[in-house]
Amino acid sequence: MQLKLYNSLTHKTETFTPIDPENKVVTFYSCGPTVYDYAHIGNFRAFLNADVLRRTLEAIGYEVKQVMNITDVGHMTEDTLADGGGEDKMEVATARLLEAKKSGTLPCKLTIDTNDPLAVAEFYASAFIQDAKSLGIRMIADAEKNPELMPRPTQYIPQMISMVEILIEKGNAYVASDGVVYFDVESFSKYGELSGNTLDALRSGEGGRVNMETQAVKKNPADFMLWKPDKTHMMRWPSPWGDGYPGWHLECSSMATELLGEVIDIHSGGEDNIFPHHECEIAQSCCATGKDAFAHYWFHTRFLLVDGTKMSKSKGNFYTLRDLVAKGATPAAIRLELIRTNYCSNANFTMQGLKDSQRQINRWRRLANWLCEHSETKIDENGPMQMARNKFIATMCEDLNVSGAIGFLNEAVSAYSVDSAPKSGCGRATLHDEFLALQEIDSILGVLDLTDEACAGDLDVTKIDCLIASRLTAREEKDWARADEIRDELLGLGITIKDGAQGTTWSRTVQ
Ligand code: AMP
Ligand code: ZN
Repeated sequence: MQLKLYNSLTHKTETFTPIDPENKVVTFYSCGPTVYDYAHIGNFRAFLNADVLRRTLEAIGYEVKQVMNITDVGHMTEDTLADGGGEDKMEVATARLLEAKKSGTLPCKLTIDTNDPLAVAEFYASAFIQDAKSLGIRMIADAEKNPELMPRPTQYIPQMISMVEILIEKGNAYVASDGVVYFDVESFSKYGELSGNTLDALRSGEGGRVNMETQAVKKNPADFMLWKPDKTHMMRWPSPWGDGYPGWHLECSSMATELLGEVIDIHSGGEDNIFPHHECEIAQSCCATGKDAFAHYWFHTRFLLVDGTKMSKSKGNFYTLRDLVAKGATPAAIRLELIRTNYCSNANFTMQGLKDSQRQINRWRRLANWLCEHSETKIDENGPMQMARNKFIATMCEDLNVSGAIGFLNEAVSAYSVDSAPKSGCGRATLHDEFLALQEIDSILGVLDLTDEACAGDLDVTKIDCLIASRLTAREEKDWARADEIRDELLGLGITIKDGAQGTTWSRTVQ
């Protein structure tokens, strides 16, 4: 099956072809959170859609190597300006927490050193990881095994310095009279290709904002910062241009190249990352590597809104996962609510929507439990859920049409009446096969966690049938010891067997 995906670089829906089609490995870089506070559910909409993309790729047979950075330095408060203005978000947060500590308003659960931005970053990074894990973001499990997959910029300073050196050497960057190293946008003819903020558009004032304060020292107002010498910055490192810190855009270019290669398959982020962040990443990476492209597919999630306005920290109109869980919402319902609107459209967050998502999940879960309970029941070939599974995956491959795919799932759910016992069919399939199909659907949705023991969805019917057949052979051979051994093995799997006139039947052991 082939995935069709909207590529923000080409503004077209394209058939996804990886760089390495032979090995079916996909390299995927996701711009992660800046850890100066708890992430809100708007941030999580971007991360969750990247997760749905990853899960869809995995469902159609790809292996996905995903990296998500945790930004702990260099993300400025004025991040809509190409070269970043204002102050470092991490340092502002550190000062705020220190102030709160002095005035006794620091929440007691924050047991961090409030004068150390890295300690603040680590605190919010682990909160992010905890939240992302409860929302079922798959790459967290990878990063637990291999922490390199969640890199922190502060651990990649030498790689960033060497990228700046390469850019200066190639004539794509320069040291200005204020000592700052800037990227020379005129040196990269494709600047503006992603966002439409071409140099002409920027010059005429139609494009994104540029920092006019630094205009006097820059060759072009759109030139952006790669390295800023600053002896007052709390987090600073020695460099050929003086003690200072890296530009935010440089961080992602450098870490992506280091961990995934010079050209990657997919790069994701929220829509506000398009300009300046990703536009600048493309310029730096292509110039440093000399390649035509940095990422082949650019995947951007549109904003989560509240009452028609972007959910954001600065507007104060946000919820964190923790806020919603405290109000009684489940992470599964929050996940579904954040993924069910296609990533290319804005989604409006409401508490009513969250309740509807929970109702959906309850219905699916009831069916999953019922299928488990009756897993041995024979049905006609190709039950409704197995048919739905194929349509579900095919619909997800249509540019992640989650709501259309859920429509097929719900059709299959409606085919069953979970309040009564199932009718037996005469095919070789069982309701366990239906359960497995639902499990496959949920491997993309990620809201039911059907490997959960409580759901008992891990019954291996083929194995049970084989054990029962071996026991029959043992009995025919009067090998009673072996027959008893097999019965005990089945008991160990939670299965009780009964010998009757119709042969041996089995059921789940009642606790
Ligand atoms: P930050 O922690 O500010 O670096 O943001 C993390 C990610 O969340 C970025 O990819 C942003 O584009 C994304 N983001 C921020 N606000 C929203 C929102 N309201 N809806 C969707 N994505 C968002
Ligand atoms: Zn980034």
